[in-house]
Amino acid sequence: MITQVDLLETPIEFLKGVGPKKADILRKEFNIFTFDDLLNYYPYRHIDKSKVYHIADIQSEGAYIQLKGRVVSSEIMGQQRGKRLVCKLVDETGSIDLVWFNGIKWVEEMLRENRDFIVFGKPTLFNNRWNITHPELIDPKNQPVSAVPMSFQPLYNTSDKAKRAGLDSKAISKLVMTLLPQVREVIQERLSNDIRQNLKLMSLKDALCNIHYPEDMQALSQAMLRLKFDELFFTQLKMLKLKLVTSKKYKGHVFSVVGETFNTFYHQYLPFPLTNAQKRVIKEIRADMGSGRQMNRLLQGDVGSGKTITALLLMLIAKDNGFQSCLMAPTEILATQHYENIKRQLAPMNVRVEFLSGSTKMAKRREIHEGLQNGDVDIIIGTHALIEDEVRFKNLGFVVIDEQHRFGVEQRAKLWRKNTIPPHILVMTATPIPRTLAMTLYGDLDLSVIDELPKGRKPIITAHYFEKDRLRLNGFLQREIAKGRQVFVVYPLIKESEKMDLQDLMAGYDAMSRAFPLPQYALGIVHGKMKPEEKEFEMQRFIKNGTQILLSTTVIEVGIDVPNATVMVVENAERFGLSQLHQLRGRVGRGGEQSYCILMSGNKLTTESKQRLDAMVATTDGFEIANFDLKLRGPGDLQGTQQSGILDFKIADLIKDEKMVAYTRNLAKALLEKDPDLSQPENASMARHLAKLMRKNVYWGMIS
Ligand code: ADP
Ligand code: MG
Repeated sequence: MITQVDLLETPIEFLKGVGPKKADILRKEFNIFTFDDLLNYYPYRHIDKSKVYHIADIQSEGAYIQLKGRVVSSEIMGQQRGKRLVCKLVDETGSIDLVWFNGIKWVEEMLRENRDFIVFGKPTLFNNRWNITHPELIDPKNQPVSAVPMSFQPLYNTSDKAKRAGLDSKAISKLVMTLLPQVREVIQERLSNDIRQNLKLMSLKDALCNIHYPEDMQALSQAMLRLKFDELFFTQLKMLKLKLVTSKKYKGHVFSVVGETFNTFYHQYLPFPLTNAQKRVIKEIRADMGSGRQMNRLLQGDVGSGKTITALLLMLIAKDNGFQSCLMAPTEILATQHYENIKRQLAPMNVRVEFLSGSTKMAKRREIHEGLQNGDVDIIIGTHALIEDEVRFKNLGFVVIDEQHRFGVEQRAKLWRKNTIPPHILVMTATPIPRTLAMTLYGDLDLSVIDELPKGRKPIITAHYFEKDRLRLNGFLQREIAKGRQVFVVYPLIKESEKMDLQDLMAGYDAMSRAFPLPQYALGIVHGKMKPEEKEFEMQRFIKNGTQILLSTTVIEVGIDVPNATVMVVENAERFGLSQLHQLRGRVGRGGEQSYCILMSGNKLTTESKQRLDAMVATTDGFEIANFDLKLRGPGDLQGTQQSGILDFKIADLIKDEKMVAYTRNLAKALLEKDPDLSQPENASMARHLAKLMRKNVYWGMIS
């Protein structure tokens, strides 16, 4: 007997109309291997054939509608980039323009005048006339009514390769239509009755049928809601479940006391009062490290929010409990800077701090290795060199990783194995991501946020200058330098062409050298093609105020602290991402002086570029900027998210459906609190689906 599950797992080539060749395309192009996969290949839109609008009835912009009419004229207008094909479509109530900028020739062939068409698209007003740009054209003659028995026709994403094999959207919709009656009755509900009824969600069976061939608009939106819910809810369930498994599996070192080291430092040597956010975060983390389970936590805080001192205080707690700590930074310069700061701050204390990197000399290295093994070294600060196998600890209890996204996954995993009971892990990042997104992305990490900047910081003043303002810029820089301040100038990095990239920088250097000549001014330059020692030399020269202007490609190390630098000039700012600009801006404003960020751009900008630069000028709040960026570009471009695969949602949208993200998170949490193994009979169907999802997973807790 074929069980229900088996039927959905049937390989796709057994569907009538598929065959081996098309099956191959379906697998390769769309990841459709089984009946179930096809069932879950949702259309991106429907043509609403249930209603044909009259042209005179069009009232608002923004909604897709269907019109039926006759093309009475077509004309090519404009030249070069403005060249377009404009056709007039009329019905018995009025007329509308259809406009094409691309594929003009092809459309012209298809559009023979005086024929009827069904037109689908989004009307907009232009010069007080309705028009539809790049509408879909459906020739009713090529589309006998019998082929589309329902009033909503689904449109599926496809590819050129698939189209050549006969798998265009229409063909896919036919396959789905063949499939649905066969599998309809075996689609099992996977939510508990409780959840489904409380939330009045459509059944899975109805949702899967209606997402492809909806009965009406309302059924379609119900189906979408239900499938979004499932996607988000089970993602959260999976993440929380992983977290639960980790915390059970990995016992943690118990940091039970706050002792003398912490207290002495806190009361006598802390250079400034902590912000409330820093205090709260220390409390959160302390509680976690005292709980008996191993901590895996993400610490988020905007640039300059004071993550380092927070981490240092926690390292002192580790020492009070008899444990060693390590702080790992992504670059030598950043690690050195952490080391020097922390060493200075701890100078009056009896805490041994050491530094280890690839360039540490052999003899010193041996000494440090020994100190780590016999427990003399309390805090080790360094680069990737800390991960190497010969670095062994007497009792490592706490690991801090700064600027997390620059570390590879395998590298981080190695740190786990540096003690029999894995150390507590704190990953610090200045990449601001909205909370709901962070919860989903790093759903099995706990999250702490420093959402407050130290008092008395003067907000950085940001301005957008055009190329024509260059002289004004130079005058401004001269005045700042005359006050004894320093300037960063950053040029964009073009990955595809490192040569051109250097050309930009070099041309800039020439121009700047003329505007800021020796001996009055000294300029430094840093780029990716330089040897590490040369780079290091130039950076140090700038840090020590030996140069007033440092020109570089984006190699300016993340996190470097030069309090005397008050101006950040970003050349071709329109070529940078918003979060990158925000990070760059964070390089200044670290001392007490008023600081500035000048975004230079060409004289002409696209609307989007203008909007982005305006956003930078309008706010210095990293979270606001991240939100804006997400709305503009979607989450796909976020640093560190590309590889995770976790954003590959089929139907949900982490930004647009933000409320549902938070809701499903809480629901999943409540469910697991009541029934951690989902072993109650009413949860059996959810447990089954979860088990299926668990087979393919991303496991941040383990790798961070
Ligand atoms: P980030 O979070 O970007 O790593 P840092 O830890 O480098 O920020 O801190 C930025 C600067 O702010 C440092 O010079 C640090 O000494 C200072 N700082 C940190 N916390 C406070 C505070 N509570 N009050 C005043 N200054 C602080
Ligand atoms: Mg930092």
